[in-house]
Amino acid sequence: MLISRYREDGSDCSTEQYEANPDKYRGMIDCKVCGHKSWYVKGYSTSKIDRMACFGARHEDGCDASTVLIKPEGEDEAEEGELSSDIWVDLDRANTKQLYVSQDNGKHGDEESTRLTQKRNIGIGGSSGFPINKSLRALLTNLCRNPNYADKGQTIHIVADGGRDVINGVLADYLVPIANASEMHIGKEYIFWGPINNLNIDKKGVLWLNYGDYRKEPSISLSPELAEQVIRNFKLGDVGELDGSDVIIVGHVGISPNSKVIISTGFTKYLSFRKVKIVEIEHEVV
Ligand SMILES: [Zn+2]
Repeated sequence: MLISRYREDGSDCSTEQYEANPDKYRGMIDCKVCGHKSWYVKGYSTSKIDRMACFGARHEDGCDASTVLIKPEGEDEAEEGELSSDIWVDLDRANTKQLYVSQDNGKHGDEESTRLTQKRNIGIGGSSGFPINKSLRALLTNLCRNPNYADKGQTIHIVADGGRDVINGVLADYLVPIANASEMHIGKEYIFWGPINNLNIDKKGVLWLNYGDYRKEPSISLSPELAEQVIRNFKLGDVGELDGSDVIIVGHVGISPNSKVIISTGFTKYLSFRKVKIVEIEHEVV
């Protein structure tokens, strides 16, 4: 779609207006028809396509403002099938290419200790009744397909750094949709997941993954160091390329002085994305 609604005063926001003033509109625009949050998608030209800028949204089913088809990018559907058994996530076994955002962080000291603990973790996994070694990314895919995915009572065991338990228990007890993150989640690690609407790097170099309105709604905050890793590992030219993605993050909640919920984590391997891409744009008459 080519026009969104600016939430503050109900006025129209065109792609030109957005580009001229992204700080005003970022996270503050909705579909004019179904009211779902929208985000800006840059236009670009390649030898094959000449795509104009537009707005993406996860429209209500049947919303007729939906002219753009949004699909998960680069997903190996066959390998990420339904999981009904218990889940074992070994963060030290992250596979950059397929499963995780990060690995090469250039910290050779850390890498070395990670390698040493890998074998031990596999041993623990094999003997503790968690037969499936699945990644956060696979978990995210399952949740996106079926938000009630954890209703089967699966358990989850996430280990890292020499066998330390990050999370160990009933999956449903640890899953929190980003929209629902609150002060109730302070003091413990949870698995936050859901769509992120827009990303932004502030003046201090902190990367913000915003659920919507950055002033009131929950955000994920990544330090400049983690932000750099995300940009490098995802080969992003601009963090805006992740606008509209789904994200899963093992982290904890903090509350800012103005009562905003901020989710943080220590490592980029505790984070995974399900990037979306625009696959088709029909001609839109506005
Ligand atoms: Zn809509």
